[in-house]
Amino acid sequence: MKHTKIKDLLNSTKPIDDVIVKGWVRTFRNNQFLAINDGSVIHNIQAVIDFENTSADTLKRLTTSAAVLVKGNLTESQGAGQKHEIQVKHLEILGDSDAEKYPIQLKNKPSLEFLRENAHLRVRTNAFGAIMRVRSVLSFAIHQYFQEKGFVYVNTPIITGSDAEGAGEMFHVTSLPINDAPKNEEGAVDYKQDFFGKETNLTVSGQLEAETYAMALGQVYTFGPTFRAENSNTSRHLAEFWMVEPEVAFNDLDANMDLAEDFIQYVIKYALERCEDDLKFLDQRLTDEEKTKPMAERSEMSLLAKLNFVLENNFKRVSYTEAIEILKNSKPNKNKKFNYIIEEWGADLQSEHERFLVEKHFKCPVILFDYPAKIKAFYMRLNDDAPQDRQTVRAMDILFPGIGEIVGGSQREERLEVLQQKIADLGIDEKELWWYLDTRRFGTAVHSGFGLGFERLVLFVTGMGNIRDVIPFPRTPQNAEF
Ligand code: ATP
Ligand code: MN
Repeated sequence: MKHTKIKDLLNSTKPIDDVIVKGWVRTFRNNQFLAINDGSVIHNIQAVIDFENTSADTLKRLTTSAAVLVKGNLTESQGAGQKHEIQVKHLEILGDSDAEKYPIQLKNKPSLEFLRENAHLRVRTNAFGAIMRVRSVLSFAIHQYFQEKGFVYVNTPIITGSDAEGAGEMFHVTSLPINDAPKNEEGAVDYKQDFFGKETNLTVSGQLEAETYAMALGQVYTFGPTFRAENSNTSRHLAEFWMVEPEVAFNDLDANMDLAEDFIQYVIKYALERCEDDLKFLDQRLTDEEKTKPMAERSEMSLLAKLNFVLENNFKRVSYTEAIEILKNSKPNKNKKFNYIIEEWGADLQSEHERFLVEKHFKCPVILFDYPAKIKAFYMRLNDDAPQDRQTVRAMDILFPGIGEIVGGSQREERLEVLQQKIADLGIDEKELWWYLDTRRFGTAVHSGFGLGFERLVLFVTGMGNIRDVIPFPRTPQNAEF
């Protein structure tokens, strides 16, 4: 028997006889009104049960999360709160759900922490259903954006043999026995006997490989899982997250910033257009949550206002040097309210500084650029005109309100000698990067790219506060359940 999605039924402009719905019970009121959700849309459909002709035993089994099939006529609803309902002629319980044992009792307003421990069931709540639909639409928007622009989607390796990216702590991949690994003459683990014959890790970024592809295909992007053994337990870091990394030949840093801004605005607009009901729900959720906070900590804008604000306003572009001046003279710096006081040029910015700039000073998304060479990766292009003691690179970070860094990118160093020098200064063996350096040996050109942390984007768009709540099964220190 074919069933119809609740989304389609709720969009129907006329009554339909004998529709079939399959879904899960959300609530059952007055022995009569059954709210069913099938995940196609945030709204439930109300099924009106003919309780006089239904056995007491069956009625008792209409518990939260039971899987059901109802067949009946879709009619205009008599009651307030919904336009349509189904007058049920036939009801089947496809799968029981023991009300005593079902962990998510909506009456008690389960906390986000509790729901995280039940990540396999939390998706049955309105909030998580909405978040995961928005996440899915955003993924699609990302592909849509780049495909429309003629970018080639590149799948860079997940297991990598290159360990020179320096983007973060890596997870080791090995098939050697952990307690009894073969040793070489020096007494160290003999990776020659490992599966790949060398040390390998889970990727922390596909950038270096993507660069090689950009230098042939022109415009490419990656979108895949990324792994960092981040030991910091923050609400912005996962050990496994998804990253989008476009890389474009012949783009300089300005073009790179233009691309990032246009891209972010496009995908947010896309979500606003396609996820109206889910975002309305999440907007209300955030408003309710904000009400539990002290006045001073509440956000001035609602979620939808924030999303529209990002669409309607240019991101503020500020050099690192300007930002340091602003921070040095800021109140929290002078009153020693920052945990890390900004004393001089060259200091690395902590998230407290980034958030000050975005949330208190500029009050809009900010692109910081031209960072000190010392605090950025080796592959970023050195600015030629900076003074010797204040060398800068063509890096850019995009900072978002409530999130901090959402994008990190740069124009890449295209000059072979400069790159070789940098690699040598870091003590990296040039041989490990032979293939990367080949792009500079054979037809090098200006090129740029960036990495956007997908979950940070989903955080922003859904208004959630913790990155663990925008990925189905989060991986964080001490946690790999499911
Ligand atoms: P952060 O300073 O926030 O740790 P990063 O400088 O390490 O970020 P990059 O190496 O530039 O970040 O990575 C590109 C993007 O990937 C970041 O802008 C961010 O959006 C995202 N990102 C980085 N690390 C994580 C993580 N552990 N979990 C989720 N997203 C991340
Ligand atoms: Mn990091």
